[in-house]
Amino acid sequence: MNTKDTIIYEAHGNLYLNITNRCTARCVFCIKHYSDGVYGYNLRLSREPALSEIIEQLSQTELSKYREVVFTGMGEPLVRLDDVLKITKWLTVRGIPTRLDTIGHARLLYPDRDVAGELADAGMKIVSISLNAQDEEKYNQLCDPKFRKAYQKMLEFARDISRTRMELRFTVVDLPVVDIDKCREIARIYCADFKVRSYGGPA
Ligand code: SF4
Repeated sequence: MNTKDTIIYEAHGNLYLNITNRCTARCVFCIKHYSDGVYGYNLRLSREPALSEIIEQLSQTELSKYREVVFTGMGEPLVRLDDVLKITKWLTVRGIPTRLDTIGHARLLYPDRDVAGELADAGMKIVSISLNAQDEEKYNQLCDPKFRKAYQKMLEFARDISRTRMELRFTVVDLPVVDIDKCREIARIYCADFKVRSYGGPA
């Protein structure tokens, strides 16, 4: 790993984790298409950091000054589910709240596991799922998921989350093709928080 690789970075009073550049989608609005990162941090990894390297960096950080530690970055954290679980447990025993930002393909990545239950047991506080669209057709256009039935399975995973003690959040990007009102209604049905994110890329 290049020593300049950004594994952890801070913004908005939060600490963010960038543990992979792999993803199970290719969203048209992904930052990968127009930038190397966010908030001045380069999030392109020369290789994935080992679990021990992530824990080492966290150990050297004054975690109590952050509101939450967020699995996000330039990739889908759940491709490293077991490491997400171990890091979450490590943070939870230290009293640090955690959030997972995910495209929500957990049921397709791990069809034989109860990912929502495992995340809850590890101590995850909030799961923020990229809803991204009001229906499957628009979702496939915008996100180009690697899996078939990804939209439906993402919603099933959201339902799994809503049945745990974790908070569920849906996000969308404010693109003209996204029907924000319909997406907000989906969030209401799932009793989820709803957040509209600004698109920062080229037109
Ligand atoms: S899910 Fe996130 S990281 Fe993956 S392609 Fe979409 S915006 Fe990029």
